[in-house]
Amino acid sequence: PPDLRTLDATLAFHAEQQPDRTAICCEGAQLSYGELRGESTASAAALLASGAGKGTRIAYLGKESVRFYELLFACAMTGVVLVPVNWRLAPEEVAYILRDSVAELLFVEEEFLPTVRQLRSQLTDVRELVLLDCAGTDGTAFPEWQLAGAGEAVPAQSHTDDPLAQMYTSGTTGFPKGVVLAHRSFFAVRGLLAAQGLDWIDWRPDDKSLIGISGSHIGGLWWATQGFNAGVTNIAVRSFGAKDVLELIRTSGITTAFMVPAMLLMLLSEPGASSADFVTLRKTIYGGSPISETLLQRCMEVMKCDLAQIYGLTETGNTAVCLPPADHVLGSPRLRAAGRPYPGIELKIIDADGLPLPPGEVGEVCLKTPARMLEYWNLPEATGKTLVDGWIHTGDAGYRDESGYLFIQDRIKEMIIRAGENIYPAEVENAISAHSEVLDVAVIGVPDDRWGEAVHAFVVRHPDASVAPHQLRAFLGDRLAAFKIPTKYEFIDEVPRNPSGKILRRVLRDRFWAEHDRAVN
Ligand code: ATP
Repeated sequence: PPDLRTLDATLAFHAEQQPDRTAICCEGAQLSYGELRGESTASAAALLASGAGKGTRIAYLGKESVRFYELLFACAMTGVVLVPVNWRLAPEEVAYILRDSVAELLFVEEEFLPTVRQLRSQLTDVRELVLLDCAGTDGTAFPEWQLAGAGEAVPAQSHTDDPLAQMYTSGTTGFPKGVVLAHRSFFAVRGLLAAQGLDWIDWRPDDKSLIGISGSHIGGLWWATQGFNAGVTNIAVRSFGAKDVLELIRTSGITTAFMVPAMLLMLLSEPGASSADFVTLRKTIYGGSPISETLLQRCMEVMKCDLAQIYGLTETGNTAVCLPPADHVLGSPRLRAAGRPYPGIELKIIDADGLPLPPGEVGEVCLKTPARMLEYWNLPEATGKTLVDGWIHTGDAGYRDESGYLFIQDRIKEMIIRAGENIYPAEVENAISAHSEVLDVAVIGVPDDRWGEAVHAFVVRHPDASVAPHQLRAFLGDRLAAFKIPTKYEFIDEVPRNPSGKILRRVLRDRFWAEHDRAVN
């Protein structure tokens, strides 16, 4: 397809060129590109008739559904900005996002109506609630609600710099912030590559693309927009479950997928999972959090498809850096890299004074990408700190090698300082993951009278495994500098992660303090 720079132009093009191709399926509901355009146009008209217009925020609280995408396209057509709210959030977190975004309309799936009822008194900006009944979806969007808007004027075309979505960061580093993203945040990287005759996803017309991540997370929304842009069939799951996704890959003949490392771990840990489950899969993109080398090697051995890693943030419009399939060679040191910036995207590593650092030195990763956010919603000061002269300051620590490959250490804020030595949890986790009896692991820094901070590991063992702390310590002896080896190992059933697969170290810290307080008292 041509270089389509807005979501509405994307839909118009494919609805014209291939109206009958299935655009989106989600557990029983499906729409062709032609139908999707019809439904989205009607929803757009309804949005306008309800008084929403350019810049109005509307929110969606629900799981993945065909209706979510109709709403997304309707927003694209009208300049209304969509705020997808993660249904896994606690009610107070949902309320925070709805209040902060000043969403005027709230589209809610029946399942989450009790949450909305509970929060009602706080939601003073919401002037209309639209109930979505997702059971038995027949492909007709918001039937009753649409009546009001039927027959309204066809909406105007959007511009690539117009805001399209307001995505809330998960708040692992503080309060969630509303990242305002324009159409270009979803299409600029593709445009850069297309200008050079490249298409790293290498779409094929008959691809079937798995949407396994919620559209309330940048990874999920970005991946879905890539599939629509390429005009392929997108198959979404309402919520990710390893057993069901394995079956879906097999029975639907999924060819392309984007997953976070935690999902890959779940798939490969599913009893009986084998290469036979992945035969149709041609390409898997992964990213969103660090991946251990052990897991990556297992993916290469079992999935036997092309693998590409991406690195980026909500603020950079997802991917700015990519490790292509050609760099996925067993034993290669590049397997520890996040990749290189795409042509046209700039990368620099800076020290605490903002001065650029040479290759090999660790500092803050900064990226200059045309896909960068417009702003943090209503937070000019935070915007000014993160977005400086077009550069996004990522808050991640990393370094570049001589060939320009980026190696991410971890979030700067997660760094543990033990007796003046810097330790990044991700590196320690990577080393512990290599033990054959370890299924998952998370590391935090805890106060230590002697060293300032000490390294504390939470380890999930494989079922029936019995590895003990002294054995882990001995195992790490060859792999990590002595000061990085955890002093304490705690065995737990599951590593707490947020819906996008990031370790919730805050939860682990709370757990540590609860134990600590119990011991002291
Ligand atoms: P918050 O900023 O509130 O913590 P968040 O973590 O959900 O929110 P995202 O934009 O979803 O924010 O995540 C971006 C972060 O994910 C990056 O800053 C980085 O730490 C991590 N990340 C993304 N891709 C990779 C990757 N390939 N390797 C290592 N880390 C990654």
